[in-house]
Amino acid sequence: MDPERPAVLTLAELRQDPEIQPVFMSEQEPEYAGELAVAKRFCERWRGDADFRARMEKDPRGTLEQAGVPFGADELRPLYDAQAVGPPSRLVRRVWALHQEKVAWRESLRQQMELTSPGLNAWRRRQIRRCAWQLATGNSEAIVHPPAAFELARGCSVGCWFCGVSAPKLTDLWLATPENRQLWREVLEVVMEICGPAAGHAFLYWATDPMDNPDYEQFCVDFHSVTGQFPQTTTALALKNVERTRALLKLSQQYGSPLDRFSVLTLRQLLQIHEQFTPLELLRVELVTQNKESLGARSAAGKALSRLDPETAHATTIACVSGFLFNLPDRRVRLVSPCPSSPRWPDGYRVHGEATFSHAGQLREVLLEWSNRPTRLGLQEVPCFREDLRLVPREGGFRLQDKSRGVDFHSRGYAGMQQLGELISEGIYTVEQLCLKMEQEPAETLLALQEMYIAALFEDLL
Ligand code: SF4
Repeated sequence: MDPERPAVLTLAELRQDPEIQPVFMSEQEPEYAGELAVAKRFCERWRGDADFRARMEKDPRGTLEQAGVPFGADELRPLYDAQAVGPPSRLVRRVWALHQEKVAWRESLRQQMELTSPGLNAWRRRQIRRCAWQLATGNSEAIVHPPAAFELARGCSVGCWFCGVSAPKLTDLWLATPENRQLWREVLEVVMEICGPAAGHAFLYWATDPMDNPDYEQFCVDFHSVTGQFPQTTTALALKNVERTRALLKLSQQYGSPLDRFSVLTLRQLLQIHEQFTPLELLRVELVTQNKESLGARSAAGKALSRLDPETAHATTIACVSGFLFNLPDRRVRLVSPCPSSPRWPDGYRVHGEATFSHAGQLREVLLEWSNRPTRLGLQEVPCFREDLRLVPREGGFRLQDKSRGVDFHSRGYAGMQQLGELISEGIYTVEQLCLKMEQEPAETLLALQEMYIAALFEDLL
């Protein structure tokens, strides 16, 4: 059982509760925050420490006392025991509310983020729809699809065996020299021009750890001055220099960043993080427990693919960007979107375009070309259903089916649906040819095709 995943109450119900305050991205009373931070810490220990879980079963009181948790087991029980009965305590409702607030925030970012470029915006929306189909629900709902990510190094020093994006060894850092900072600002301005304020949701790592770069904080401050937002940090190096991490958390909070994340690779790290940082310091920091004692499966992507049991490995990507992925040392940019990892895309993201640039003007031309996509299906395009979909003819229509789900297309909306499906699946006819082949009015055929295009059903027109 995931201790922070509410089983009983929705955010709407929790918001009606007079004992609940908004916490996420809000100021809260010190007493409220302090109590919540300790309960959050209990959840992290429960999730990340198998021995702690076993001891809680046998001797909850002694285990909580030993761990310095100042609450009774009954007060916490619904957080760790799915069989708990009776109304949840105030503390439990507060933990649930914090979790629900974060879920709602991610959901609103995914659904409401709008990019300035209409073509790129429509493209991002298609990727969201495709991911909702191709990825497990929990995986796709956790992906916000920010429009950019920036690597400030070549490779990563951490070397996790399960790295979902197959980070190579660290070989180069992009330091904040005057020339690099100048280029950095110019790159950000180009991304702002195309994405608008949504660019502020980008982050400064990918197959890199941000804390490898000694100038990371400087780049974050520059990012804030151009985009108006301070980038969210995820690091596996929180313990490398605790004072530096502590200062970064303060800086991030001071600039209004809603949350940061520590990746926890071993149980020892989890205990050390709890020792080095107070519960309150970590109230807005998510601990992503990846250690072997932790509950929950790792993502089956990248380096983990060959080492995980396909039966229990539930998620299929850790990639979350639908947009521009930069590597600054290489002056390289790619247009990427998340997908289930596969032999073709082992790192859990598709690459839709790739280029290098030597200056911001050149970058601008590339990004504009990638972004100026039609929002409607062109007459000369050749639609063909996605590779993961199989067409099953049905009375008056057809069904598109993948391994686990499907969707029906009926003649109710368009009388020639069955024939249209069969023609599309041949993958040889342009939109114009399809309109001419069908008995229905071309405008009707175009509309039916356009709906399928928006739903991200066509392989090369994603
Ligand atoms: S998972 Fe993150 S910290 Fe670990 S190797 Fe990959 S990029 Fe580095």
